[in-house]
Amino acid sequence: MKALAKLQPAVGLTLTEVEKPDVGPNDVLIKIRKTAICGTDIHIWKWDDWAQKTIPVPMHVGHEYVGEIVALGQEVRGFQVGDRVSGEGHITCGFCRNCRAGRRHLCRNTVGVGVNRPGAFAQYLVIPAFNAFKIPHGISDELAAIFDPFGNATHTALSFDLVGEDVLITGAGPIGIMAVAIARHVGARNVVITDVNDYRLELARKMGATRAVNVSRESLRGVMEDLHMSEGFDVGLEMSGVPTAFTAMLEHMNHGGKIALLGIPPANTAIDWNQVIFKGLEIKGIYGREMFETWYKMVAMLQSGLDLSPIVTHRFAVEDFEAGFDAMLSGQSGKVILDWDS
Ligand code: NAD
Ligand code: ZN
Repeated sequence: MKALAKLQPAVGLTLTEVEKPDVGPNDVLIKIRKTAICGTDIHIWKWDDWAQKTIPVPMHVGHEYVGEIVALGQEVRGFQVGDRVSGEGHITCGFCRNCRAGRRHLCRNTVGVGVNRPGAFAQYLVIPAFNAFKIPHGISDELAAIFDPFGNATHTALSFDLVGEDVLITGAGPIGIMAVAIARHVGARNVVITDVNDYRLELARKMGATRAVNVSRESLRGVMEDLHMSEGFDVGLEMSGVPTAFTAMLEHMNHGGKIALLGIPPANTAIDWNQVIFKGLEIKGIYGREMFETWYKMVAMLQSGLDLSPIVTHRFAVEDFEAGFDAMLSGQSGKVILDWDS
């Protein structure tokens, strides 16, 4: 079958032929229709330090996808051939304390599809049936293909009550922008997002940001004054991984504020702990998606009118994957879809 793989320990990926995977007794075989390019795939493409330490070579990668079940292991219940599915990319052990307590997102033995084992940038993907998630009618293939990052945005944004709150989101990458739309949908008052990239800030405006602030030119304090927010933000969603963005967030939070951290900063990043202590801030780290509460919330929000469609800005046939990666690398994109059917 066709697959997009890292064949050498070097920059880039190659469209190649690999063996179709075997289906174990608890697995489903998914025929992939559409995939999306994640920031993680960009790290893999660039072959940075993290990728060199993490990605086995040769292996095909990718973990944002939608497809159709074409075969089932003999033990699988609850799915049928023909079901349209996406899937949870974190494969969990099932026997650690958190797994057994139903907190699968906290599994200490998580294995990542397209990171630690072969991925979805291929004509066929095998995953445990436990990880498959049926997509209801009425949700487009394109949106179904981005449930993984939409799930990161949902898990983060729904960590705290946003109703009537003033929310600061740092980082208008695809996940930050989707978090804007979610915060609006669930009833936040002001949703302010920061970045240094005007293209992405414009997309965030389109998706409902009260203010989209280019912090290289504009001060957050001034924006707060315009919005008559004298005290500070109630909830912060850190979605950039950039230390100065997190510092600015800490400075602009109200006392008693709550922060969810999704962005991954460089190791050993220092912060001003006095901001945390004397403001009585609550900080929560976010990893992945809750299995499968986050997935149900995503469906429910789309079915109750959440419109994420502007986040998909580019579409390519998989043969043109280089153009897709170029679009992501340029920073002038939202989500980029690769089509495996065409
Ligand atoms: P992304 O890299 O596309 O977005 C990050 C954005 O931050 C970019 O648009 C960048 O221009 C912006 N930025 C740069 N400097 C800034 C500054 N000073 N202030 C505000 N914004 C600034 O990433 P993404 O795919 O949207 O993911 C968001 C973050 O979440 C990344 O750090 C990613 O590694 C992380 N992530 C974490 C998990 C998890 O499970 N914890 C899962 C997925 C992604
Ligand atoms: Zn576990």
